[in-house]
This record gives sequence, structure tokens and C-alpha cells, in this order.
Amino acid sequence: MITRNKNIANLKAGYLFPEIAKRRREFAAANPDAKIISLGIGNTTEPVLPHINAGLVEGARKLGTVEGYSGYQDEGLPLLREKISKVFYNGKFSIDEIFISDGSKCDIGRLQMLFGSGVKIAVQDPSYPVYVDGSVIIGAAASFKDTGYAGITYLPCTAENIFFPNLDLIENNSLIYFCSPNNPTGAVSDRAQLTVLVNTAITKGCIIIFDAAYSEFIRDSSLPKTIYEIDRADECAIEVNSFSKPAGFTGIRLGWSVVPKALKYAGGESVHADWSRITGTIFNGASNIAQAGGIAALDDEGIKEMRALTDFYLTNAKLIRETLQKLGINCIGGDNSPYIWARFPGKDSWEVFAQILEKCHVVTTPGAGFGPAGQGFVRFSAFGHRADVEEACNRLTDKLSI
Ligand SMILES: *Cc1c(COP(=O)(O)O)cnc(C)c1O
Repeated sequence: MITRNKNIANLKAGYLFPEIAKRRREFAAANPDAKIISLGIGNTTEPVLPHINAGLVEGARKLGTVEGYSGYQDEGLPLLREKISKVFYNGKFSIDEIFISDGSKCDIGRLQMLFGSGVKIAVQDPSYPVYVDGSVIIGAAASFKDTGYAGITYLPCTAENIFFPNLDLIENNSLIYFCSPNNPTGAVSDRAQLTVLVNTAITKGCIIIFDAAYSEFIRDSSLPKTIYEIDRADECAIEVNSFSKPAGFTGIRLGWSVVPKALKYAGGESVHADWSRITGTIFNGASNIAQAGGIAALDDEGIKEMRALTDFYLTNAKLIRETLQKLGINCIGGDNSPYIWARFPGKDSWEVFAQILEKCHVVTTPGAGFGPAGQGFVRFSAFGHRADVEEACNRLTDKLSI
């Protein structure tokens, strides 16, 4: 018989969200009358707004006409790439440095092929699971021991360092995953911090994969919305971003990666050329309908709609944060990000998760599921209908005293 990819056997437990779904199902089965509210998974809940939706509809309609029909689009529709460069990067990149995809999680998985199984990895701890699990699957992380994988350097982000890690821990020639605004902590790195990150990467011969999926939630104009606001980032960073959260495209699927031509490997070869080769080989592009929606999202009207949608979720975040603060629970995030990271010192985060589910019938995400430094924290997501978020906040106020 054919044998299993041994890297997959190295994956620790199940993926976080199926495990949460399982515990929710078990609770629901035992408590059939409970009206469970989810502030757990970071999945969007509100409808696509009208102008952007009209773009999707028009994209679909055109496919039914001889003049409007289009097939494979390789790296993406030129108009969409041009608009992304203009709206997100002030026109800094040529359209061939922007690769359209079916989402940034998928890109993160594929990007790992650029570096293969021999690469050293550094991640913020806690972090979005695909950075670690994707590295394990590709063989870049050796076996799991105690609390983490050998081959992966965990950069603890804690209350003590205000959720920005000590970059001295990064080994030379590492691939650094960095997410800001951060999922799960909700922390946003400022310009000085990202400058240190870029300088560290350049000094240590590292490449950063910068995940900017929540950039459109930033309201404080002093905070960078892209790593490329930092000098020389184009020599050391790839950025991924997505329409999932700001435009509600989680189910429509549209994202992009920026791979600057200035980015080189140790041997001087072009990372851009390899990314072009990889995407051309194993990926056939994002849906043309989704791309038509993306083009509409980057019109003046679409940008206003994304602002309104992110404002809506940020208002939810504020309600949750204020509720927790009134309960005396220490938390961060929720101002320039849709996540609130709540601290329960000395408690096991799965235990806190279970207590909130039992007492309030509210689903959260246990911090330990995002990495060892997430122990003692629980993540609240602001993605939800307003009435559900208000109801969840009322229940937390009435029933939660941990
Ligand atoms: C939701 C999310 C993404 C977006 O993934 P898509 O595949 O584009 O839907 C990327 N990174 C982080 C950290 C996320 O939370």
C-alpha cells in the first residue's frame, strides 16, 4: 500500500476550528434549548453591500454574452491589479507585481512552496494556524515536542511585551510570518515596530510574509496599513491581503499577493519569477465573477461600502470590549481590528471557553489553539449580527463571573 505523507502525521491534533465546532455540537446536543451565539470563528455575517454586489451580478451577466465572455485570466484582470496598486499601495507596484488569487489563506499555503522544506520558520505566538500547520505539512517543521514544533521559532506576544515580540529571537535566514492587525490578538504594530521588523529581516537575511488581511479595519491613521509603508520592505517582504473581511468575500473568494521584483533569494535569484512560475503551474486564477466584484469594491462607491461594513464590525467590537472591561476582564484589540483578546490569568483557555459556553451559550475561541502563548486568553470575534452581539453582551454581563 502507498504510505502517508509523514509530515501530516506530525500535525498536532485537529485544526482548531473543527475542534470548536465539535465541542459546540456536543453542547447543543446536550442542551437542545440553548440558543447558542457564536463569537468564535472569524467568518463574516453581513450581506455584500449593493454597489459591490451589482459588480458581481454584472460580472456574471457578462459571462453569458459573446462580447463579455472571458476564460482563464492567469494572474488576474489587469484593471483589478491596477486598482489594487492604486488604492492600497499608492501606485507603488506595477501590475505584474500583484497576483490575484482565491484568497490569502490559499496564498499562504502556496507561498511555502517558494522556500521548500529546508527553511527555518519564525511566527508570532499566538498566530493564525495556517502559518504553522502549513509549514508542518510542507515538512519545514520537524516533530512536535512539549509545546511547539522543532524547526519553528515561536515569538511570544504577551501582555508584558504589549503583543509585539522580541525580534532578537529570530534566527538568521528565516521565513517570518507576521500579521498586523493581528489575528488573534487584535494588536496593531506601529510604524516604529514595523521599521524594526524590516531592519531585522534585512540584517538577518530573512523574508517576511506580511498578512494584512485586516488592514481595512485600521482607523488610527498613524498606523501602517501595509508593510510597504516602511522603507526597504520591498527588498524583504511579500504581502498577502484579501477582500474576505472588508468586503464580505469570505464565500466569494478573492485575495492577492504582492511579490516585489526587488525581492531576491540569498543567491540573487528573483522570488517574483518563481512565484509567477508556481502560480502559473498549480493555480488557474480567481473567479472572473469575484474579480468583477473586486473591481466594484475599489470604485469610490465600493470603498465607501467597505468602510461602512468594517465600521459595522468595529462597532460590534466596541460593544464586546466595553462589556468585558466592565466585568473587569483585561483585554486588547477591537479598536483597529475585529478581534478582542481577553486575558484570564492562571486559567486554561479551553476551560474558559467551556465556562463561557456553559454559562452564556456563547462560543469563543480558546487562545491556546493559536499557540503556546495564547494560554490564559480567549478570543472574541466581532463578526456577527448586531442583535446577536448585543444579546451575547447581555448574557456575558449577567452570567459571567470567572
Ligand atoms: C481571514 C483571514 C485571512 C483571509 O483568508 P482568505 O483565504 O482570504 O479568506 C487571512 N489571514 C488571516 C490572519 C485571517 O484571519
